[in-house]
Amino acid sequence: MEGKEPVSLNLTGRRAVVTGASRGLGRHFALTLACAGAHVVLTARGIDRLQGVVQEIQAFSGSGVVVGVDVTDEKSVKVCVETVEKEIGPVDILVNNAGIAVSAPLLEHEAADWDAVLNTNLRGTWLMAQEVARHMVRVGRGGSIINIASILGFRGTKQLPGYCASKGGVINLTKAMAVELARHQIRVNAIAPGYIETDMNREFFATPAGQRMIDHIPQRRLGQAAEIDGVLLLLASDASRYMTGSVITIDGGQLAAL
Ligand code: NDP
Repeated sequence: MEGKEPVSLNLTGRRAVVTGASRGLGRHFALTLACAGAHVVLTARGIDRLQGVVQEIQAFSGSGVVVGVDVTDEKSVKVCVETVEKEIGPVDILVNNAGIAVSAPLLEHEAADWDAVLNTNLRGTWLMAQEVARHMVRVGRGGSIINIASILGFRGTKQLPGYCASKGGVINLTKAMAVELARHQIRVNAIAPGYIETDMNREFFATPAGQRMIDHIPQRRLGQAAEIDGVLLLLASDASRYMTGSVITIDGGQLAAL
């Protein structure tokens, strides 16, 4: 149609930071963003694994660098964002993906387990988002922050009290940040995946207990990381420029069935 620009999910020229990029979903997100043309900074604690992912990115002539971070440590987060700024310049996209889960019956859940989960999933998400937002405000050209929540931020389940609480927190933190950062053209949205198959959970989902969980998913199967790509690129790109404070579920219909 004349005068009509096609919607583009291309990220050429954009700079993206992905936390927890050494394996699982974070590794996949880093590859996806690099495939779409972004220059990607891969972060986590384990540098060696991150280097391996950078090599995968370079294998298709993508662009990626490694910067270590422990998202639970405020100083480490500040040093990470300063290093990113020095090495690649202004950040356009942050994917706040680093997360852990500790599974134990509610009455046996240790305070240390609770602290580890909340410090990584909620405080870590907050520290990274706040520091990158400070940087984006200084630079003055807006940006997109994407927090990886979970459908367990909307609903409860057994044996994961800290995880459920942390992801519920991430969902409302996303909204609070979106409201305050909108005037700086910084958009803050969240993706809430259901059960996505990764190396870490494949074995569990093959057990009878895992199969029972799959039976409760309307689509009767696990999701694949690639099935998050469309929403990731939508939120990272200008195609979603009027979206902020949104939480998008990708769960084969699990929440709809509740
Ligand atoms: P993995 O355990 O496979 O990967 C977690 C990543 O986070 C690793 O790269 C790890 O690297 C990093 N990480 C952990 N702690 C820290 C820390 N303190 N500082 C910096 N990096 C850290 O997890 P998944 O890929 O399964 O999950 C990724 C995200 O997606 C999480 O937030 C999870 O809650 C969410 N999610 C996952 C679902 C699934 O089905 N897989 C479903 C819904 C949500 P390192 O240890 O080297 O630091």
